[in-house]
Amino acid sequence: MDVLRCRGLRKEFGGQAVLDSLDLTVAEHQVVALIGASGSGKSTLLRCVNLLEELHDGTIELDGEEISAPGVDPDKVRRRIGMVFQAYNLFPHLSVLDNVTLAPRRVHRRARVEAEAHARELLDRMGLGAKADAFPDRLSGGQQQRVAIVRALANSPRLLLLDEVTSALDPELVGEVLTMIRDLKADGLTMVLATHEMSFARDVADQVCFLDGGRVLEAGPPQQVLGQPTRPRTQQFLSRII
Ligand code: ADP
Ligand code: MG
Repeated sequence: MDVLRCRGLRKEFGGQAVLDSLDLTVAEHQVVALIGASGSGKSTLLRCVNLLEELHDGTIELDGEEISAPGVDPDKVRRRIGMVFQAYNLFPHLSVLDNVTLAPRRVHRRARVEAEAHARELLDRMGLGAKADAFPDRLSGGQQQRVAIVRALANSPRLLLLDEVTSALDPELVGEVLTMIRDLKADGLTMVLATHEMSFARDVADQVCFLDGGRVLEAGPPQQVLGQPTRPRTQQFLSRII
């Protein structure tokens, strides 16, 4: 079963195509890694999937339902998709627990007791239980980013989108975030992640997509795309960053 199906996506900024005839399919429980040079369209693709950008052409299906169709309520769709960005965007004036329960309580109208119980359970499972009542500035960057991921999980999303979630972290803090993503994969969560961490992509992804100029130039299992790329541009990109 496919959780996400993107067909013929086109997105332009100022008349320039940033996504061009882009197809992407993500099966349930799969992890897809998007790689490619800066400006190749990774973030735009993730933002389109979360309906943060309007498409110029193409369709996006979530669990077989066309979410790019006119008349679809983007807020309702976003409740089924979690998204985490490069810079952890926790609310500094809220405790970890309140950061995690804000959306479930406001958007999903869950009772506080129920939302907090679920949040504490998630934080415990992710090794952050002791930080529930702390404020973000008392946490390391890695812990903050892990809380941001827990917050995205609080709505029990069908799909988690991660946009270079380790890029803003000091190198010694990257590992704990990657370990968390690995654990989420083991739990069966379906994910699409943009990353510069090639060894992580090789390790965790079922499928790697190399984006170039808004197109998927090469896609397949990591051993193939990262190990034996067939396209010169993929080879060039990999030789520069590995
Ligand atoms: P990546 O995440 O792979 O680095 P992006 O999706 O951020 O790439 O950007 C793809 C292209 O789209 C870039 O050329 C970027 O300058 C352009 N772009 C992204 N967002 C906007 C925007 N809001 N307005 C204009 N151009 C944009
Ligand atoms: Mg980006």
